[in-house]
Amino acid sequence: MCGIIGGITSDSIEKVLLDGLKYLEYRGYDSSGLALSENGKITVRKKTGKISVLKDELKKNPLKLAHIGIAHNRWATHGAPSEINAHPQLSYSNNIAIVHNGVIDNFAAIKSSLVAKGYEFRSETDTEVIADFLEEEKKQLGSLLLAIKRFFYIAKGSFALAILDQQEPDKIFFAKWRTPLLLGRGKGMNLLASDKIAFAPRIEEFYDVADGEYGYLQGDCISLFVYDKEIIKTPTFLPIDIKRSDIALGKYANYMEKEIDEGAFVIDKILREYTKDGKYKFDPELVSSLKNSEEVILIGSGSSYHAALLGCEYLLNAKLNAYAYIASEWAHYPRIRTKNPVFILLSQSGETADVLRSLDVIKNHRWPVISLVNIESSSLARRSNYVLPLFAGFEVAIVSTKTYICQVALLWLLANATMSNTAVIEELKKVGRAQRKVLSFKDAISNLAGKLVTQHDIYFIGRGLDYLLAREASLKFKEITYIHSEAFPAGELKHGPIALIEKGTPVIGFCSDETSYAHLMSNLEEAKARGGLIFFIGIRSGEVDEEKFTFASIDPQVNILIEIIYAQLLSYYATLRLGYDVDKPRNLAKSVTVE
Ligand code: GLU
Repeated sequence: MCGIIGGITSDSIEKVLLDGLKYLEYRGYDSSGLALSENGKITVRKKTGKISVLKDELKKNPLKLAHIGIAHNRWATHGAPSEINAHPQLSYSNNIAIVHNGVIDNFAAIKSSLVAKGYEFRSETDTEVIADFLEEEKKQLGSLLLAIKRFFYIAKGSFALAILDQQEPDKIFFAKWRTPLLLGRGKGMNLLASDKIAFAPRIEEFYDVADGEYGYLQGDCISLFVYDKEIIKTPTFLPIDIKRSDIALGKYANYMEKEIDEGAFVIDKILREYTKDGKYKFDPELVSSLKNSEEVILIGSGSSYHAALLGCEYLLNAKLNAYAYIASEWAHYPRIRTKNPVFILLSQSGETADVLRSLDVIKNHRWPVISLVNIESSSLARRSNYVLPLFAGFEVAIVSTKTYICQVALLWLLANATMSNTAVIEELKKVGRAQRKVLSFKDAISNLAGKLVTQHDIYFIGRGLDYLLAREASLKFKEITYIHSEAFPAGELKHGPIALIEKGTPVIGFCSDETSYAHLMSNLEEAKARGGLIFFIGIRSGEVDEEKFTFASIDPQVNILIEIIYAQLLSYYATLRLGYDVDKPRNLAKSVTVE
C-alpha cells in the first residue's frame, strides 16, 4: 500500500509529481521520494517522513528541470521506514529506478538467485529485488519490456510498478498485478498514478490498468500489452469524474472532523439512492438471491468487519442464515456450511487485499457476490455480481467514519427489504436527524475526551448490538489516540476483564436497547465499585453532562448509529488534545492493498 505517481510532461514534471504525492498521502506517509530522468541521467531524492520533508529538501537542494519522472509515498512492508528503504529503488548498476506498490511474496527466493549471480543489495525491500531482477533479465532477454513480461511469470504477490531506465530515457515503463494503477491523458502530458485524485485537475481522461497489463509511456503515446497474450491493446479512456474541490477542507482544520460532520448526513443520501416514495429500489434479483440463499456470509476488515457484524445481526433478524468473518481469516480458512452461499463483501476502497483474496476463493466456486464499496471502479466492484455503492463521498482521513455509517444503514435496509418491511425507512430518516443533534454537543464530548487522555487503558462495553458498536468505538479510539482500549460484552466483565479495572480506569457503556438497560447500568456500577470512572452513552432522553449522553430511542436496531457519531467525536477530540495528527495516525494507511 503506497502511492505512485509518474509522468511525462512538456513542462517541468517535478511539481506534477509533488502535487500528486500530496493527494496520495492517504495511502502511505512514512517516507517519500522521486526520480527524474533528463538527458539519459536519473537523479533520485528520498526522505523519511511526510511529503513536506521531501518538498523542503527539494527547495534547499533543487533538481534540474526534467520532463520525465516517477515518485512514491511509502507504507513500509519490507524494511523499516528509512531513506535507504524509501522508493525509488535503484538496480545494482543504477540504470533502473523503480517505484512499487505491493508485496512480492517470493522476493527471498528471487533475491537468493540474484545474490548467486553476484548482485548485492543496499535496502531491505522487496522492491530492490524487482529492480535487480529486471536488470538481470534485461541482460538475458535484450529489452526491459521483455524483462517486465517475464516478471509476471516469476513474481508471486502484488505489484503496481513505474520504472525508469537510463538506457531508454524517454519512456516510463509500468506493470500492474493486484494493486491499482491508472493511466491519465491530458494536454501536453501522460501520467500514471495509484488513484485518479492524483491526476486532477491536469488530466481529462483516465484508463484503469487491468491485472496482467504492462507497457510504457513515451511522449504523448501509450503502449499497452498483456503479459500472457501476444496482443497490443488499445486502452479505452474515460473522463475523470473527480475534482480536487470534492476533497477541499473548506472551513475545517482537518478531514476527520469534516467527515464526521458529513457522516451525519450520509443516511439521507443512502435513503435517496436506495428508496423512493417509501419503497425500496434494490434490484429485485439481488433481494431474492438473499432471500433464497441457504446462508449469507459477510466478509470485511477493520471497520468494515464491524459493519459486517451488525449486518449479520440484521440478516438473522430477517430469519436468514448469516455469518460474519474477518477477511484475512476467511480467505485462508474459508468456512461454508451449505452448497449455495451468497456473499456480501465490504470494503471502502474496494482494493483491500484481504477482501480481494477472499473474493478469489469465492470466484473459484462461482458463488454470487454482493459488494458494498465506496469506489465503484474498484477491483472488488468490477468482479462482483451486484454492486451496492456506499455514496459516502471521498474519505480522506485515514480512519473510516462516514463509510461505516453507510455500510450499517445499507445493510439494515437490505435486511428489511428481504422482509418487505418498508416501515423502517421512516425510522432511518429520524436517525439521520438524531445524528445531527449529537454534533451540537461537541464541547461536552471534548470535555469528556479530556478526562480520557491521561489514561493508559479504556474499556468500552455494551450488550447485543451495543457490544458490536463498542468494538468499533474501541478500534476508532486506539487507532488514532494510541491509547490501549478494548471492548467487552458488558455481562462478560465480571467473568475476567473486571480484574483490569483500577482506580480511575474509564469504562464507557453504550445502551441502545431498553432490554439491556438495567443490566448495563449494573455492569457500570460494578466497574464503579472497583474505582472505575464510568460514562454512559445511550437511550432515555434528557440527560447530557460530562458523564452521560442520552437520546430518545428511535429503533433499538439502529440507535447505535447515533452512538457512533458520539464515539467518533470522542476519539477525534482525545487525539486533538494529545496533539497527534487526526488525519494520519501512525502506522496506518487508508487503502490496505497488501495482505
Ligand atoms: N513492499 C514495498 C516496500 O516495503 C512497497 C510497500 C508499499 O506498497 O508501499 O517498500
